[in-house]
Amino acid sequence: MSDTTTIVWFREDLRVHDNRALLDAVEAGEEVLPVYSFDPREFDTGMFDLPRVGPYRARFLVESVADLRESLRERGGDLLVREGNPEDVLPVLAAAHDVETVFYHTKPATEEKGVETAVTDALDTEGVETRSVWGKTLYHIEDLPTSVYGMDDTFTPWRKSVERNASIRDRVPTPDDVPTPETDAGEIPSPADLGIEPREPDERGVLPFEGGETAGRERIARYFWEEDRLRGYKETRNGLLGPDFSSKLSAWLTHGCLSPRYVFEEVKRYEAERVSNESTYWLLFELIWRDFHTFQFEKYGADFFSSGGIQGGNPEWREDRTAFERWANGETGVPFVDANMRELNETGYMSNRGRQNVASFLADWLELDWRMGAAYFEAKLVDYDVCSNWGNWAYQAGVGNDSRNNYFNVVSQGERYDPGGEYVRHWIPELAGLGENIHDPWTLREDEQATLSAEPDEEYPGPMIDMDAAHERLRNR
Ligand SMILES: Cc1cc2nc3c(=O)[nH]c(=O)nc-3n(C[C@H](O)[C@H](O)[C@H](O)COP(=O)(O)OP(=O)(O)OC[C@H]3O[C@@H](n4cnc5c(N)ncnc54)[C@H](O)[C@@H]3O)c2cc1C
Repeated sequence: MSDTTTIVWFREDLRVHDNRALLDAVEAGEEVLPVYSFDPREFDTGMFDLPRVGPYRARFLVESVADLRESLRERGGDLLVREGNPEDVLPVLAAAHDVETVFYHTKPATEEKGVETAVTDALDTEGVETRSVWGKTLYHIEDLPTSVYGMDDTFTPWRKSVERNASIRDRVPTPDDVPTPETDAGEIPSPADLGIEPREPDERGVLPFEGGETAGRERIARYFWEEDRLRGYKETRNGLLGPDFSSKLSAWLTHGCLSPRYVFEEVKRYEAERVSNESTYWLLFELIWRDFHTFQFEKYGADFFSSGGIQGGNPEWREDRTAFERWANGETGVPFVDANMRELNETGYMSNRGRQNVASFLADWLELDWRMGAAYFEAKLVDYDVCSNWGNWAYQAGVGNDSRNNYFNVVSQGERYDPGGEYVRHWIPELAGLGENIHDPWTLREDEQATLSAEPDEEYPGPMIDMDAAHERLRNR
């Protein structure tokens, strides 16, 4: 250790465990300034004039930053919190504390890379060095069998080659001490301070989703160890109701409160101490999907935001704002789609099954620009991750890593995954009186429909498109 001061610039790595940037900063300096800057550009409006961050993700982020500050304080340090563009904030701090090097985790998306370049340029001008490290994925980018730029664009062959030819690195140690110089640590802003109207999640949601490394570890403790759910994950993962049908780790992974290698090690420990089966493997399989989308983003960058995605071209999509609003508000008249959209709007979460169906309804059934859906998810999801979101949306719209006709039959999907209609009734109380037609109420005779709701203003709308005609078109396209 030399007698220098370093900075660790926290981004989507809001944890002290398995954090290479933090460890390197601690090892390189006598004192370390841990910094998080709320970048106002991230709280602006984005594509289609939609907000980029909504209340659930803003709350989760603020809680995660607060939890990180606590963990650093327990290690004798602190977290400096600022509001401003990192390329303005970091050089000022570096100059004030005579910092030699700034350490940070790089992010694979284009805008984030733009910020990194601005930061490195600004620090370079001041004579401050920058060191970026990779830490988002289970497999390290440098350990892949082929460079990301030459990687297969189809998941299965890529996964098989990675599983055969690469291994997962061990976690890096958590520093015991993070000596931080005396300085004004700054207040953590509330979502309202960031210009976001706060909103409490609905009690009907699957989980309260508290942000932070501590809550993330508690989630693993509950799901793996206390409730012993991992052994049945593959069978339950397509569920819709309750906290434990799937791991619900996504929000903590997205914000970096949990490292994927920590999840991996916990799965391996569970396999050694409890059971090793298809389900335990399947959680890792899903984490490899997450890696795939991340590396695809590294490969294709901004192509994922174009109408033709990575398939190219310039396909025309409809941009009907009224139709989009009906989809967004959960008022399409298709109960399975609406229940999922209402869950998203009220809680910030939606199951994977739900996401696939609502995405298909927007892109395939309504033929709306898939990017409107992706941009809407960006603000609403508590676990929004640029790579997983845009990658999965492009995939569903047929312009990403799968260009087959992979539309979802949103009626039969409801019948299959919500056979008793319990999920639909949970989110659409107007339909509580319905029985077996709960997934296609428009097939009921008119007099039966009239009994659906006692209150006329609570009447559930009819389907916004001719479902039979749309289905016929999708079958034959
Ligand atoms: C249209 C669409 C948009 C999506 N947007 C996001 C997003 O913004 N952020 C996000 O984390 N996931 C996204 N997903 C993937 C997936 O739906 C969520 O990761 C999952 O539902 C989160 O719940 P869970 O943690 O209980 O998942 P689990 O089933 O328990 O899976 C474990 C972990 O594996 C990863 N994972 C699982 N499925 C996928 C997948 N298809 N792609 C990438 N990673 C996956 C997640 O990190 C997840 O936490 C999207 C999927 C679709 C179809």
